[in-house]
Amino acid sequence: MKIPFNKPFLSGNETKYIEEAVLSMKISGDGIFTKKCHAFFEEKYGFLKCLLTTSCTDALEMAAILIDIQAGDEVIMPSYTFVSTANAFVLRGAKIVFVDSLPDHPNIDVSKIEALITPKTKAIVPVHYGGVACDMDTIMELADKYNLFVIEDAAQAIDSFYKGLPLGGIGHLAAFSFHETKNIISGEGGMLVINDDQFAERAEIIREKGTNRSQFYRGEVDKYGWMDIGSSFLPSDIIAAFLFAQLENLDKIQAKRIASWNAYYELLKPLADQNLFKLLHFDKDKTNNGHLFALIMPNLEERTLLIDFMRKKGILAVFHYLSLHKSPFYKEKHDGRTLENCDNFSDTLIRLPFYYELTQEEIEFICNSIIQYFDER
Ligand SMILES: *Cc1c(COP(=O)(O)O)cnc(C)c1O
Repeated sequence: MKIPFNKPFLSGNETKYIEEAVLSMKISGDGIFTKKCHAFFEEKYGFLKCLLTTSCTDALEMAAILIDIQAGDEVIMPSYTFVSTANAFVLRGAKIVFVDSLPDHPNIDVSKIEALITPKTKAIVPVHYGGVACDMDTIMELADKYNLFVIEDAAQAIDSFYKGLPLGGIGHLAAFSFHETKNIISGEGGMLVINDDQFAERAEIIREKGTNRSQFYRGEVDKYGWMDIGSSFLPSDIIAAFLFAQLENLDKIQAKRIASWNAYYELLKPLADQNLFKLLHFDKDKTNNGHLFALIMPNLEERTLLIDFMRKKGILAVFHYLSLHKSPFYKEKHDGRTLENCDNFSDTLIRLPFYYELTQEEIEFICNSIIQYFDER
């Protein structure tokens, strides 16, 4: 059996909608399908305003521009995350203040944030790892108290909730990803969510090369011009057409992914109960959106052995983030604090194959291989 780590899922209407977008002869940005996608998210999750972008990375870069990051401003975020979370702010001259993860989940340990806030702190960027919410109540309270912005990196967090609130709808701004490794995809793609009205108008301008072309298209102004800094952050309507086909199947995709997650959990929980490895812990007020399934091995050596064992059986399991505070680019810039839990996840976390079409038979094969690994060890 050959089991890849990820497999993009086509829900059916992707090529049909792409053809429609092409034949409409309006294939640049903000066409019919882009508008349909914006409306979908605004209606389903109650987000104030949504703007499709070419990636989550771009949405984060837009957020950094919107909150007016200046050289020397400090931005607080976990170290256990993708480079774009940090890079978007570094591009504008920010200093990143990395925070450790929780002991039992890669999410930011909110109890460590307040001590790191200085007069230069401008924002907190929580990353909802594996689609599981960070402790947003504490983060929003700190933001209120110190007058900071909160930008949710919700790249993995589509259709996930914290105390009943949709992730991406809690911070002032949020960024989603539709990269082919995420739950809902468009190849490359992303979205900026604006929950604070003060950013709504400027976000459109920044996304359209610093011009007010969006207002012009709506007939609100009779010519458009250069209003602000900006870049080309909007995707072609062909990308939005693909994405809309996925969105029409969002509930089906989510139900299937959560069923796969539950199947893994049922088969692997007994091994976790024997302390052979740990599973990620999260409280009941946070939902699981079936983005990934991870094991925490006792150490780096055991992780390498298990990944190799599975590879020989044709199963591709992978590790995840390397601590950003130890990266070749940032290690000299980091303030030297050790981030023990983050480093531990870098060394010991394994992600098992996870994709829409994963079958019960494949899940059983994967779990039996893990059982066999521990039996033969
Ligand atoms: C995938 C991911 C990103 C980047 O998304 P792109 O759409 O590829 O730019 C950023 N942050 C996190 C946490 C991610 O998982």
